[in-house]
Amino acid sequence: MRTARPTATVVDAALELLASGEPVGDDWRDRAACRDMPNELFFPTRGESVAEAKAACARCPVAVRCLAFALESREQHGIWGGCAERDRRVLRRQLGSAA
Ligand code: SF4
Repeated sequence: MRTARPTATVVDAALELLASGEPVGDDWRDRAACRDMPNELFFPTRGESVAEAKAACARCPVAVRCLAFALESREQHGIWGGCAERDRRVLRRQLGSAA
């Protein structure tokens, strides 16, 4: 099964937010599409599907802030803003090379 990929719009907006220096905060959590979903979906063990988590992220109104928060706080695990850790590693390298 294919999983939803983080949209370029969400990724670009999250990188722009971080570059702006504006605080990311955590007030976005109340509007999260995942707020009533099981946490385990977003923190799968090896081999478990992340399709449901990524589908929620794809329709989440706060995906930009969620991803920015995860990048800013160097979250090592889970799906944030539709991005898995390996996606975020790539983005952190981009942020590092832009600095
Ligand atoms: S982007 Fe995904 S992980 Fe982040 S708050 Fe929204 S649904 Fe939850």
